[in-house]
Amino acid sequence: MAEQAPLVCKDIHKTFNQLEVLKGISLETRKGDVISLIGSSGSGKSTFLRCINLLETPTSGDIIVHGDPIRFTNNRKGERIPADNRQVEKIRSRLSMVFQGFNLWSHMTVLENIIEAPIHVLGVPKKEAIERAEAYLQKVGIYERKDYYPAQMSGGQQQRAAIARALAMEPDVMLFDEPTSALDPELVGEVLKVMQSLAEEGRTMIVVTHEMAFARDVSTQVLFLHQGVIEEQGTPDKVFDHPESERMKQFLAPKF
Ligand code: ADP
Ligand code: MG
Repeated sequence: MAEQAPLVCKDIHKTFNQLEVLKGISLETRKGDVISLIGSSGSGKSTFLRCINLLETPTSGDIIVHGDPIRFTNNRKGERIPADNRQVEKIRSRLSMVFQGFNLWSHMTVLENIIEAPIHVLGVPKKEAIERAEAYLQKVGIYERKDYYPAQMSGGQQQRAAIARALAMEPDVMLFDEPTSALDPELVGEVLKVMQSLAEEGRTMIVVTHEMAFARDVSTQVLFLHQGVIEEQGTPDKVFDHPESERMKQFLAPKF
């Protein structure tokens, strides 16, 4: 039997007020896929990631995590909402997200940031959570900063700490929303290197990025989103070297 897909999205739509931001996005991952989501600002990339881990509720469409379809219901106003908060919590812990702005807790050390959710959400014993956190800090190369507060570190180190925090949940899929966009240019490389090493370990990842070299070299699939629609999709070779859509060609053209 084929291995179950870590994540399947079927025909996701999202409307804010009257504005339809996602117009039917489907995606199927296999274990080890690295899917880069590219497209202009405002095309719906963040909204799609936020729908996947239920920071937003899709207006319609299905999300299936490891064979487990997310259940929705309607509230009294007739709006669609998740039917079961425990399921939402479980899904979020299996799909951990790394944000553009790091989102570390400023009053906690790096180590405390990383052990918080494993202890309080997954119920991992503290000693084990610390051991796990230390191993992930080694992996992202900032073990020696474990007792620092976020403000005492560079942006690149903070983002690597945020990646270690996401890893500590041992998620099925990691979601990255422009993880290098807030960094000074000289710090981008250290974060991309960590992400590339995660990809090489066979982790399943969905990465919203403007780093075209990363999308081309590291992805198994690239999706180009335009105004809430997937305009072009395929292997990096196909999307970058043989794009069919005019909009994708324009997106790739040098802009001076
Ligand atoms: P991207 O990440 O590709 O830049 P977004 O998903 O952030 O795009 O935004 C897509 C569109 O959805 C934009 O027009 C944005 O203004 C709109 N949008 C996003 N979030 C909200 C919200 N909470 N309420 C209303 N409109 C929103
Ligand atoms: Mg965005």
